[in-house]
Formats: sequence, structure tokens, C-alpha cells
Amino acid sequence: MAKVALVIPPFFWTKTPHIGIEFLIQALKRKHKVDLFDLNMASFQILRKRRSEWDKLGGEKAPSLFQYLKSSYPRFIDSTLKSLKKYDLVGISVFRRNRAFSLRLAEELENSGFSGRLILGGPEVSFIKDFCGQKVIGEGERAIAAIAQGESKDFLFWETDNLDSLPLLEFRKFNLRAFPRVLPLLSSRGCIRRCRFCTEWRLYKKFRQHTPAYIVAQMKKLWRDYKIDWFSFQDSLINASLGWLEEFGRRLSEENLPIRWEAQMIIRDDMTTDLLALLQKAGCTNIFFGLESASEKVLKDIGKPFCPQEALSLFTRLTGLSLHFEISLIIGYPTETEEDFLCTLSFLKENKKLIPKIAQVNPFILLENSLLKEEGITPLPQTIVKKRMKKVLKLIKNEGLRHRLSFINNLADGN
Ligand code: SF4
Repeated sequence: MAKVALVIPPFFWTKTPHIGIEFLIQALKRKHKVDLFDLNMASFQILRKRRSEWDKLGGEKAPSLFQYLKSSYPRFIDSTLKSLKKYDLVGISVFRRNRAFSLRLAEELENSGFSGRLILGGPEVSFIKDFCGQKVIGEGERAIAAIAQGESKDFLFWETDNLDSLPLLEFRKFNLRAFPRVLPLLSSRGCIRRCRFCTEWRLYKKFRQHTPAYIVAQMKKLWRDYKIDWFSFQDSLINASLGWLEEFGRRLSEENLPIRWEAQMIIRDDMTTDLLALLQKAGCTNIFFGLESASEKVLKDIGKPFCPQEALSLFTRLTGLSLHFEISLIIGYPTETEEDFLCTLSFLKENKKLIPKIAQVNPFILLENSLLKEEGITPLPQTIVKKRMKKVLKLIKNEGLRHRLSFINNLADGN
């Protein structure tokens, strides 16, 4: 039996517990002793920032939080390192936002005489070159279990074929009182789309789903355990298969649980009013759609499988049901002309009564692992993108479009 510490360094999301770490805890706990070091929530509480502010911090341009904590709260860092040194295995979860802290923590741990094994896992790991410990790229459950048993190579894309073979999530190691009363869920892994700016689909080799029965059992269990009535699906999309979605909606509404849930979906014109009404009956209260642009040409260039008219017809059905949804936008996609941009502005203006909320507006960012990067696309000049961002934000303000302030321009600093 190995003693395993799983670490979530800041800056990380504070709305829900880290679902990826919970999957690892479940994969290890039968054979090993597992402890969680949620340094993100610990430092969030020490520094007493507002949640909306914290969720925007981090990234390449962020000042060194590790250094700040080390000089201002030395006991916090010292006791963390002292505790971690006692473990056989320390796994650190690395995202773009917490990369700097994670690497510094790994370095300090190694320099402190730590004799166990150090693993880095998470979406940012494939970009880390100079690290002498083990790396897990892709899903971690099978990999970390193998490492805990003594295997010592890097693990690349060891995916679980049958997701229902994974134990149900429990979140017992998290201090749930520190989070809002909402729990994360994952009904699938991967994405069926290949949008050219996106890297999310690259984190997986294959798209897989739990069965609807498994997810309903998971929701029932968590509701019984905590009486938390709000679930947030963290899937890239939960409407890859409408047959799946219908069965899920039907099973969940049959349970009659007093719960609500939100999820990300792709825009599909074949989602009928009946299906949407079934989801609403089953507790769906919010849907996120990546609209990104209202120019037909830009949507086609991105690789989106819908046109603005189809988006509009879906939005109209949702509004008819009073089912809340939010959209995200990307401003300054490399092929976006001024005319395309104006299409997006007019779409927002003309349909302001139809769109309950704008979840995210960000300038285009050329991501390392994206298809666009591979194709060697040249982004638009920053001056143009900034001008368009200003215009869209002005329109949002002037037209009184509801939006989430913390997600406006939140990716611009490398988060
Ligand atoms: S943007 Fe969304 S739908 Fe497109 S590939 Fe990425 S995760 Fe999938």
C-alpha cells in the first residue's frame, strides 16, 4: 500500500471541487492511502479574495503566488512541504493557470530531500519539457494506479474504455463547505467535434459516455449524501447523442429528485421542443452554448456544424420554454472580416430579447495544440482585435445584455 498525496495548486477554479482529482481518489482509495492537498482553496481562504477575482487570476503573466506565500505566509508553505515529504507518491494537477505554482512546488519539494515519486498530470503537462519526474498525459485513473504499484514510465493516453467501470464519485476528501453548494459531474470524456481553435478535444483519444443509468445513480447518490441540489456537468458537451440525452432526461425525471443541473451543449437544430421540455422537467436550468460568431463564414471556418439561423431557431425554442441559456463569443477569429464582426454585433442587437445571458466574450487566442497553430495561421493584428473587443463590450453595455463580468476577456492574460 502506497501513501499518495494529490495536490491542487492555485490558481484553480473555486466554484466546484476538482472532479479530475476526485476520479483519482476513487481509483486509488481501495488499495492505497490517499490524501488531498487542496492548496488552491487553502490559499483562496488565506488571501480572502473574492471568488470572481480569484477565478481570473493565474496564467503566464501572473506574479509569483508561490513566492508571495513563501515570504508572507512561510508557515503555510513550510508545513505543506514538510507534510508532502512523508508520502511515497505526490501527484500535482497542472493547468495553464496554476503551471507556475505547480512547477515551483515540484522544484521546492525535490530540493527539500523528498525521496518519493513525483508525478505531474493535467492538460498542461504535454507542454512541460524540463521535468525529471513522471508525467501522465490524458486520463489519470489507470496510470496513477499503475504508478502507485511501482511502474515508472510516462503514461500517455491510458484511457478507460468502459466509463461505467469507474466507481461513483463521493467528494469526501474535499472541504465542501468552502465551495458554493454545487457539485461537478462528467457524463462523457472527449468531444465529437474538432473546432479549429480548440484544444479540448486533443486531451482525449476517443469520445466515450457513461450510460444514462450510471449518471442518474451518481446524481441520486450525491443528492442523498449531501442534499446538494445543484449539479454542473463539466463535459465538453452532453448532447453528442440525442438518444442518450433523451434516455437520461426520461430516467432522471422518473426519479423526481428536487435537483437542478446545468451543462454545456453544442448548438443542434435537431433538438426538438419536446426534448428540451423533457430536460427542463428533469431539472435542467441552464445550458452553455459556444456560439463564438454569428457570421456563417466564420462558423464554417471554425468547423462549427450549424449556421446562425439554426442557432436562432434553437434559441427561440429555449426562450419559448423559459429555459435559461448562455452563449460564448470569440472576437477576432483569424478569418473574421469587419463585415463578419458586424454580423455578430447585429445578431446580438437584434436578438437581445432572445439571449438571456452572455457567458463569455474573449479575443481569439492561438492555442499551442490547436489545428490553427498546426496550419500556421496568422492571427489578426492585436489593434484590430482590441478595437472589436471594445465595440462588442460597448454594445453589451449599451443594449443591456446580461453577462458574466468575470468571464469577459478572462482568457486574455494566458489563463
Ligand atoms: S469548441 Fe467545444 S465543440 Fe468544439 S471541439 Fe472544442 S470542446 Fe468540442
